[in-house]
Amino acid sequence: MIVMKFGGSSVANREQIEKVLTIVRDRLDRRPVVVSSAHKGITDALIAAARTAADGHNPGESVIERQQEIASSLGCEPSLLMPFFSEVRDLLRGIRLVGELSPRSLDYISSFGERMSVRCIADYFTRGGLEARAYDAWDLGLITDENYGRARPRPDYAQPMREAFAAMPQGVVPVVTGFVGKTAKGVITTLGRNGSDLSATLVGAALDAEEVQIWSDTDGVMTADPGIVPAAKSIATMRFDEAAELAYFGSRVLHPATLVPAIDKNISVRVLNTNRPDHPGTVIEAAPTPKPSPVTSIAYKEDQTVLVITEPRMFEQVGFLARFFEVVARHGVVVDLVATSEVSVSITSHDRDRVESAAQELRTLGEVRVQGGKTILAVVGRHIQHSKGIGARILEAISRADVNIQMHTFGMSSNNISLVIDDGDISRAVASLHAALFE
Ligand code: ASP
Ligand code: MG
Repeated sequence: MIVMKFGGSSVANREQIEKVLTIVRDRLDRRPVVVSSAHKGITDALIAAARTAADGHNPGESVIERQQEIASSLGCEPSLLMPFFSEVRDLLRGIRLVGELSPRSLDYISSFGERMSVRCIADYFTRGGLEARAYDAWDLGLITDENYGRARPRPDYAQPMREAFAAMPQGVVPVVTGFVGKTAKGVITTLGRNGSDLSATLVGAALDAEEVQIWSDTDGVMTADPGIVPAAKSIATMRFDEAAELAYFGSRVLHPATLVPAIDKNISVRVLNTNRPDHPGTVIEAAPTPKPSPVTSIAYKEDQTVLVITEPRMFEQVGFLARFFEVVARHGVVVDLVATSEVSVSITSHDRDRVESAAQELRTLGEVRVQGGKTILAVVGRHIQHSKGIGARILEAISRADVNIQMHTFGMSSNNISLVIDDGDISRAVASLHAALFE
């Protein structure tokens, strides 16, 4: 069997859901299990409504109206979503009354997007002649820990999940909620924003799927953000470690934790385009056939903060780095890049507040500077370390774009070269790099 996950833009409206219906129907011989996101924008709208309510204002009905519009355009009976709408109204009223939004309540309200979309989709499929049934993932064994906002399944979730799928009626396509789970006590959780990809690989791993397909709106994973680089190309195959690196750098296609279950079970993940279903997309697997290009893709992460500490007496001092990182760790700073010289240390992190609080204390060790608005630009590829001249080509391309590099890291067994630049320079830097490395 295969798991087919459709993202928010793939199920945004009737036109898109019609495409999904055709795609699934064309693959019935592979016994598909469908995992779906909420319709595009619904999760955001639910969260915005909850925030408005927590601030003591009336969030109105706009999110319900949006969902209702999609359901009506699909021809669903009003009764299909009625119970969900009244629960959403009650919940928003409750949040407004208590005037606070805990991570637990935020997960509860966020869960409605997927719970409603799978019902609309299964209903539409069935009326369209493809018999389907909606399932909440927790009824199929997706029981998680209590980490609201980034819950993970219990280690033993797979066996109950296999049993639940085995008990399903034959010849009916299951349409399963992405993103959501429940704790053992029955409280709703979410896997984190974009968590539906992870739901799909978790289902795939439990069922030993032959493939997990992530259906999105680009031709697989691209060599760069197609929004910035029109010449960006689709990547045919990638290894798990390269993909994980890219996912981490927010290449906007895969959730960072998505690949872990697939790696554990050695299941290939294929990224496909709902708008061009015949395009082969990108296959991510343990060891694809070798290909000559040293570079796989360019990715970037914006809005990072850099902290630099300079201390001339650091020269030949023992233990300075240990003291520095002890403070950094105590303030809970997650460090991404590190560069050192004899008299200075630079780190990057996404969490400006924690960096600022660490900086206060670090001033006892040396002169400290904190700068926000930085981008980590990563060139990823598993042959980088064996390819002579790649570093020079990258630096040249950046200088041609008239962009200043503020930090630069490359490890001995690294499959990426990372640079730090200003947020405002991303487009120029990425376009120039792409031209130098791919065009
Ligand atoms: N609907 C959720 C979100 O918008 C999960 C997902 O789409 O993967 O984050
Ligand atoms: Mg997504």
